[in-house]
Amino acid sequence: MVCIVILGRQGSGKGTQSTLIERKYGCLHVSTGDMLRSAVSARSELGMKAEALMRSGRLISDEIAIGIVAERLQHEDAINATGVLLDGFPRNLEQAEALEALLAAEGGSITLAVNLEVPVEVAVERLLARGRSDDTEESIARRLEDYEIQTMPLLQWFEQRNLLFSVDGLGVVEDVFYRVSSVIDSVLDVACQQASPTSKQTKRQSRC
Ligand code: AMP
Repeated sequence: MVCIVILGRQGSGKGTQSTLIERKYGCLHVSTGDMLRSAVSARSELGMKAEALMRSGRLISDEIAIGIVAERLQHEDAINATGVLLDGFPRNLEQAEALEALLAAEGGSITLAVNLEVPVEVAVERLLARGRSDDTEESIARRLEDYEIQTMPLLQWFEQRNLLFSVDGLGVVEDVFYRVSSVIDSVLDVACQQASPTSKQTKRQSRC
């Protein structure tokens, strides 16, 4: 199974690009932020635990975040998916190591990480413009700070594994997606060739 991780600070366009990746490659989009927001709306136990932290822009505990991803990957649609796109996870080294272990347990691994690069000032502008309920100035500042401290070291973690592909996230959505899909195509083509040098075309059509 292909496992794509999308990285980038809040406001980098991860959600928008994830929807386009999901549509083009038929991967299952797993967004921890979306799962948590649904849990908050449903007033579930998880939602109650996460709500205040999310509103103040803090991360929920690694244990809970890893738990919801582990559980999500056990669902039938995930087991049968040809690919999974992880959005909002991993957020730190501990979560990255846990993801590696989760995939390895099923004989899999992370295929690539796409890092959407957008300067902080642009990200803040975009976040204030979208006006989500957890997008107050204070929570935005905290989330961006957390990103620098916790998530930036992940870039090196992915780079050391030759899995990191940084893409300029500025410009219109279509242009950014062109860059994103070029990166994904190049990695999938290499993966397909390694899997079966003779049936590259067939494999490419089914996105591995
Ligand atoms: P997002 O939509 O990815 O920006 O996530 C919204 C909020 O959900 C974050 O500010 C965190 O409070 C929480 N959250 C989402 N994913 C994670 C994660 N992997 N680890 C910890 N907290 C998370």
